[in-house]
Amino acid sequence: MNQVTCECGYEAKGASEGQVVDQVLAHVRSDHPDLVGQVTPEVVRGWIELAPE
Ligand SMILES: [Zn+2]
Repeated sequence: MNQVTCECGYEAKGASEGQVVDQVLAHVRSDHPDLVGQVTPEVVRGWIELAPE
């Protein structure tokens, strides 16, 4: 599993990097609109951790 934990505690998980990136970008748009310009797909990929299933 690919996993990203946001600084607010939100967790995005998915089988592929693309799924996690989409979840995080949607989360940033709804909960952290001030960060939308800074959080790009490349940035989110840098946050991904591999987690056990
Ligand atoms: Zn968050």
